[in-house]
Amino acid sequence: MAKQWKADYYDGKTAARQMVEVRTVSQGVHIKFTDGRIRFWYRHEFRVLQDHPQGPVRLEYGEYPPEILEIQDPSFRDVLKGRHLKRPRYLALWLALLAVMIIPAIIYWGIPNASGWFARFVPVSVEEQLGNYVKNELFPNRRICQADAGRQALDELVRRLAPEEYEYNFKVEVVDSDWVNAVAFPGGNILIFRGLLEKSPSTDALAGVLAHEMQHILQRHGTENLISQTALSGLFKLISGDAGSWANTLFDGVQILSILKYTRELETEADESALNLLLQRGVDPTEMIKMYQVLNKHSSSFPEAISTHPDMSSRMERLKILISQNPKFVSEPVLSEKNWESLKNICQTLENK
Ligand SMILES: [Zn+2]
Repeated sequence: MAKQWKADYYDGKTAARQMVEVRTVSQGVHIKFTDGRIRFWYRHEFRVLQDHPQGPVRLEYGEYPPEILEIQDPSFRDVLKGRHLKRPRYLALWLALLAVMIIPAIIYWGIPNASGWFARFVPVSVEEQLGNYVKNELFPNRRICQADAGRQALDELVRRLAPEEYEYNFKVEVVDSDWVNAVAFPGGNILIFRGLLEKSPSTDALAGVLAHEMQHILQRHGTENLISQTALSGLFKLISGDAGSWANTLFDGVQILSILKYTRELETEADESALNLLLQRGVDPTEMIKMYQVLNKHSSSFPEAISTHPDMSSRMERLKILISQNPKFVSEPVLSEKNWESLKNICQTLENK
């Protein structure tokens, strides 16, 4: 779990100070108030100020007078920066520096979460190639559902959910299969299996799973898994973006499926960020729990090796607690009844891949 920071919050209207807890996630900060309310500030929505290197860090949100978060611990700034390090323009140069300075240290001390840190340096275009490779290896002869009205409804659903600022081009496909599941691949591809559509209690419930899968992509969990398993050789291939030659050799000794198997920590991170996304997009998050119940019930319909949704019970409990802390959310159905019907019938037209 990410570290929590104590902070003071000012609402910009009164001088009253409120104690809050702050946590950084890859897209911004997560703010928890003592009354249980949760806010999420996207990285592009706030400014970071620090008057003195050893002094408190201030985040300002919104127009003047802004809402303010003040974190006393000056190291918060480094964590915040670390999470949002932009990919350097001269990758090769940076890589050489990294190799010389940091990698020996990692080997020597075994810094935890190093693969997550490195995943940020992999260009999105390389993640896309990696994701396509994994998708085609695992599901080579999939039949894609293509009915026009259903396709349009699915696009509408994806648009409604996609965060405002993101580097990924989300491509969601429905596969004609009874499996009750959805799988995300690095770079933006998501496969939803027809069984999931059929068993989904509502569009909002489906949106919950989709939001979760999107977060695996946005937080680069698959790429992180691959790096942790291929160690340095894979890392260099991925970061250098040598797309022509790596695919065949990258997976030497790696089970492709393991790229899509996430640790409990990564699943929790995806769940919590998905919940924030749903709240921000006005999607009813309680439906997500209903969907998780369905996934749990049908987990045996999916081969054990591709059971990509572990620990469902404890994750549902955690989500229930988080949702109960946000009792005042206002929701609006993600799709009209008509479009939801169209989406459920998307497999009436098929295309072989
Ligand atoms: Zn997951």
